[in-house]
Amino acid sequence: MKYILALDQGTTSSRAILFNEHGKVAGKAHQEFRQIYPKPGWVEHDPKDILGSQVGVIAQALVRAGAAIDDVVAVGISNQRETTLVWDASTGRPVYNAIVWQCRRTADICDKLKAEGLDKLIYQKTGLVIDAYFSATKIQWILENVPGARDMAQAGRLRFGTVDTYLAYVLSGGRIYATDYTNAARTMLFNIHTLKWDDDLLAIFGIPRSMLPEVCPSGHVYGRTDAAYTGRRMDICALVGDQQASLFGHLCIKKGDIKNTYGTGCFLLMNTGGVAVDSKNGLITTLTASVRGKPDYALEGSVFAGGAAVQWLRDELRVISSAAESEKLALSVPSSGGVYVVPAFTGLGAPYWDARARGTIVGITRGTSREHIVRATLEGIAYQVADIAGAMSLDAGTAIAGLRVDGGASENNFLMSFQSDILNCSVIRPAVTETTALGAAYLAGLTCGMWSDIAELEHNNPPERTFTPAIGDDERRALLSGWHGAVRASRL
Ligand code: ADP
Repeated sequence: MKYILALDQGTTSSRAILFNEHGKVAGKAHQEFRQIYPKPGWVEHDPKDILGSQVGVIAQALVRAGAAIDDVVAVGISNQRETTLVWDASTGRPVYNAIVWQCRRTADICDKLKAEGLDKLIYQKTGLVIDAYFSATKIQWILENVPGARDMAQAGRLRFGTVDTYLAYVLSGGRIYATDYTNAARTMLFNIHTLKWDDDLLAIFGIPRSMLPEVCPSGHVYGRTDAAYTGRRMDICALVGDQQASLFGHLCIKKGDIKNTYGTGCFLLMNTGGVAVDSKNGLITTLTASVRGKPDYALEGSVFAGGAAVQWLRDELRVISSAAESEKLALSVPSSGGVYVVPAFTGLGAPYWDARARGTIVGITRGTSREHIVRATLEGIAYQVADIAGAMSLDAGTAIAGLRVDGGASENNFLMSFQSDILNCSVIRPAVTETTALGAAYLAGLTCGMWSDIAELEHNNPPERTFTPAIGDDERRALLSGWHGAVRASRL
């Protein structure tokens, strides 16, 4: 048996998963690592923790799979996107901690860019809305705040990388300095139409070109690891941002294919084929993963509080003792009894983009019980996803035929079935829900020739369960109208 080693470097943990020739998980290991919060709203990772946790789980995954190291034919890396590292080219040593995508420290820089009216130019070139999430302002912050960094950058002595680039650089002993289209597309420095770093943007952010890696398709032979890290030298055959990895893992490769990941937040991506669709609803336009050739485009939208709303029920409201219990309670009542929960804890994202909206419960009566609140909270997650899916469908001019799902909260059968009711389309949950790592493995396996084409992968990961709509149009319309009333209340 031959294997692909997928390294999935996430925001809170690093995972290593060995996939066999049938795309099945043969062994896996994961390790959480430290989150650093130097000030309110700031989030950092120590690069040594990222690297140590990631390298640490490789051997464990191999042992659990009972796999011989010589049977690993390639490595694929998926990663938390946008998180920014800057290191000294001569020593490989980072000049500052990794600034994590969630970090808000550059919100003021972003406000200034917006005040200067740069939104349109930046959207046209990058497909992104100006926000502190993306890497550009984080790099700028490092150059402005780390003593000597600006001079070193001007002298060509610094390198920037997202986590994929940093891992490939270190694992290869400094021989690989590259990234892929999906990660480059999240930096706010990359032109998604020309598929090149953009000189105008580099000038706006004051970032020298010498700091930027070469950009390649996600599936590409990037180079070889150093035996010190992986036991023997292995080909790195894929680098890919986590959400695009998941899209590929679901084999959403055709126009109109759409997936949602139900994690702490929810991430929806819809493949729009060869066309970069301009969003009228505040969605982001981004690039998809490809093997060797040019990438396609996708629309992306996120729900800030997805599974986080379930954590709130458990940890703050304390009406459930585990996330899984929410399903049982929701199913114990026939409806939410007219209650709507809008989990806008940190505002609302697309299509509302209202940072001031706040969590709201409407429709409470004397008969409202915790079961109703729990059910309405799960429904609130599904409604938010439906709002984004609706915006995507409008922007792309494509009806949604079926939503593919993964992530922790996709285990919740009530949530999935309500999602299907409200979207009026099927919701498909695959047997392997490690779709991020699977996507990285597919890309690496197709690149190194372990699989010859995508058709070979189609039967690897059949649906474990498909949910189909069970309510009529009138009921759906009434529910959606109640939801939109509740959203208005959350924005008062
Ligand atoms: P992340 O990658 O963002 O950490 P995961 O994909 O691991 O997220 O999913 C964890 C989230 O899913 C948590 O917010 C948790 O509350 C939620 N969750 C897990 N299981 C369930 C469940 N059975 N029902 C509803 N929510 C769940």
